[in-house]
Amino acid sequence: MQPQLGLRIALFGPPGAGKGTQARLLCTRFGMLHISTGNILRRAIKEQTPIGLEARAYIHQGNLVPDELVRDLAEEAMRVSAFEDFVLDGYPRTCQQAEWLTGFLNRRERPLSAIVYLMLSDEEVVTRLSRRRVHKETGENFHLDYKPPPPEIQHLMLQRRDDQPAAIRHRLRVYEAETQPLVRYFSKAGLLHEVDALGSIETVHARVCALLQSLKGRLN
Ligand code: AMP
Repeated sequence: MQPQLGLRIALFGPPGAGKGTQARLLCTRFGMLHISTGNILRRAIKEQTPIGLEARAYIHQGNLVPDELVRDLAEEAMRVSAFEDFVLDGYPRTCQQAEWLTGFLNRRERPLSAIVYLMLSDEEVVTRLSRRRVHKETGENFHLDYKPPPPEIQHLMLQRRDDQPAAIRHRLRVYEAETQPLVRYFSKAGLLHEVDALGSIETVHARVCALLQSLKGRLN
């Protein structure tokens, strides 16, 4: 039986900061539900659902998918967790999403416990993303230097189309314009907790766990 944290958190930070990797580790360790809007959207594209068909061009160009489209996906996924013990990865990404999310959870008396801000410089973002590879079936992230895929699954590795250098630069600009302003919003709400995202996967995981343990002590 895994220890339950009783926390509702969102991982926040630039593309490539390690949100997906850290979310997976937390979910394995604490039995939380991993809600990655990016993964949900990529699955929808693969399955050619109406949402997938609508989202496709935005994602491939490194632009944000319209708020209303992602909101329904996020809501459905949180419902599955009964609004307990989830890790949002890549949501919210705009002020409108942040306002909707906080209002939605507050009305259910299940407020967000924390926004964990994984901080990383632009140079490190570009280096990390250009060396990232993704398992085409499970969506698990690998890194050619820090977390190389084992030889037997090499043939299942893909480079995301939006991890090509031009798309990375574009995503960084989108992040700065649309998502970075949320730092102020969540900081004012007293929810923002900064974590240095530079270092090995295990080192960053240990930092995030230490933060969550201290939050658990304070909030539960
Ligand atoms: P990610 O895997 O989180 O990097 O997301 C990949 C892409 O999915 C993003 O570049 C966006 O095009 C889209 N996406 C994921 N989450 C959101 C969101 N919260 N709002 C808008 N678009 C999103």
